[in-house]
Amino acid sequence: AKEQGRNSYQFYTEGMQEREVMRLQLDKDLSQALANNELSLYYQPQLNLETGAIDSVEALIRWHHPRRGLVPPAEFIPLAEESGRIRDIGRWVIQAACNQLAQWRGTPCEHLRIAINLSGRELENEDLVDDLRQSLLNAGIAPNRLEVELTEESYIRNIEHNHNQLARIHDLGIHLAIDDFGVGYSSLGYLRDFPVDVLKIDRSFITDVPQRHESGIITRAVISLAHNLGIRVIAEGVETEEQLAFLKRYRCHLAQGYLISRPMPAAELERALAAGLLV
Ligand code: C2E
Ligand code: CA
Ligand code: CA
Ligand code: CA
Repeated sequence: AKEQGRNSYQFYTEGMQEREVMRLQLDKDLSQALANNELSLYYQPQLNLETGAIDSVEALIRWHHPRRGLVPPAEFIPLAEESGRIRDIGRWVIQAACNQLAQWRGTPCEHLRIAINLSGRELENEDLVDDLRQSLLNAGIAPNRLEVELTEESYIRNIEHNHNQLARIHDLGIHLAIDDFGVGYSSLGYLRDFPVDVLKIDRSFITDVPQRHESGIITRAVISLAHNLGIRVIAEGVETEEQLAFLKRYRCHLAQGYLISRPMPAAELERALAAGLLV
């Protein structure tokens, strides 16, 4: 048993070292990715349940790795947050989204708002507000065409500093959304203290609506909370007609998920909107 214990320990450390090497390699590749144009944004439509129109899309980053193929964000975003590379990625995302909005002028996408994801680490970056302002200015885009999605944790981590940053972003005219709403450990007090425009109900609640009674109750409560606060509410991860019907019934403003559309490259989104395929 002792022998086996030592072997498995060895196996464990080797596994850790291997993982560490792979992480370092991936982070190195990531710096190349930025230089070599391997990153792109996919766009997932958000359906306005009141009008049936698509007014906004969420930008989701994609990495086309030359050898490993498509690397999902769940694999490289956490890594980039640790290494600090996330700042370069964030800057790239902001610019790419603003440039896309500019390119959409005169196309069926010209009315769209883009919601980008930022991580808490990026909020700590003192240059963030300037990056946002400058990118909008360079592209000639009105700030209200941009929305920033942040998780609850990002809002409340380093609360004083972040409150200040978020207020400055909001003052620019950029909309603020709380991502994955309902799964964090924060109090609701920050809804009062932060200038929030949108609540995004976490997919884990939507997934088992309407089968699971509790999830339905929570979803309805969040929708009603948003109505009473006078802010927008969106459900993510909508995959079935039943979920969509439930959300319409309780007057959720927006829905996003595979039922409506998968995230797709800009060109594909333009074609789909032009052909009226999404509404
Ligand atoms: P998120 O912000 O919660 O994004 C929603 C995720 O759910 C996306 O995964 C999306 O493709 C997926 N999704 C959309 N509809 C459905 C559905 O109906 N069913 C299911 N099962 N999934 C659905 P993705 O693109 O792999 O992104 C994962 C996470 O990576 C995001 O979660 C976000 O936290 C992060 N991320 C993505 N892009 C960026 C970025 O540009 N910057 C930062 N900092 N993080 C990003
Ligand atoms: Ca998001
Ligand atoms: Ca989510
Ligand atoms: Ca998330």
